[in-house]
Amino acid sequence: MKVLRTPTEIHAWRDSVRPGGGTVGLVPTMGSLHAGHVSLLAEARRANDLVVMSLFVNPTQFGSRDDLSKYPRNERGDLEVATEAGVDVVYAPTPDLVYPAGFSSRVEVRELTEVLEGDDRGRGPEHFAGVTTVVAKLFNAIDPDRAYFGRKDAQQAAVIKRMVTDLEFRQEVVVLPTVRETDGLALSSRNSRLSPAERERALALSAGLFEAERVAETAGIDAGLTAGRRVLTDAGIEPEYFELRDPDTLEPIAEGARGPAMIVVAARVGGVRLIDNVLIETNQPARSIR
Ligand code: AMP
Repeated sequence: MKVLRTPTEIHAWRDSVRPGGGTVGLVPTMGSLHAGHVSLLAEARRANDLVVMSLFVNPTQFGSRDDLSKYPRNERGDLEVATEAGVDVVYAPTPDLVYPAGFSSRVEVRELTEVLEGDDRGRGPEHFAGVTTVVAKLFNAIDPDRAYFGRKDAQQAAVIKRMVTDLEFRQEVVVLPTVRETDGLALSSRNSRLSPAERERALALSAGLFEAERVAETAGIDAGLTAGRRVLTDAGIEPEYFELRDPDTLEPIAEGARGPAMIVVAARVGGVRLIDNVLIETNQPARSIR
């Protein structure tokens, strides 16, 4: 496995594998790898001739509330996980190479980034502009055939798909299911900041989503959402949102609508803001399409 640390090196590597060098799959990560990342790497490995994993804690997607210096880092462990997953190239540049002096461009998707995580209580549109700018740079630098993202960050996936469509990026965006602990908690690098008691309470997010899904199957969406919200409030958690949204447009979906939809939740547990979601089919009766 190669570890490349500069744009010049990754460009040279990309040039060396074309033409006819096979397909390239990219898995963008900020490191602190867990089984969620590994599932993306496994699918990238299965579907492509070459796999690149980027490892870059992107400063521009952190707001004042989300402390960059507190983000967990473990490059040595991450390189071991990447080797084990059969990654061909890890691209791990430093911030000064991604954003050199004079850097002044940005890629911004509007509307989709102004709701849910993009509102005042969430991470804000600036967060998503940081994500889309760095993903656009990675797409240009690595020129992968496919790029892999987790459904766990459903809004991020919708925003990246929009960027790819709008700006005619030629990458195929693949969105894969959320990997969970056996008790339901969605894996996240933020989970390491939960105390044991907070981790127990955090289970209410996934439990609430599953309860909403279960009740919606027989009693409809509104009853499902009410039942799901109650699981959170019973655990002493006031969700910032717990709603049914269109997976692509992120627009609210009302009772009686048809087609795929997702129930999305965000809540603070202690000092940690957590998000999760489940995909459902709203055709009557609603049923899980996880
Ligand atoms: P991050 O390193 O947190 O930026 O995440 C890198 C990628 O892993 C993103 O596409 C995330 O959506 C994805 N990811 C994070 N957690 C999970 C999970 N529990 N299951 C599946 N994918 C995940």
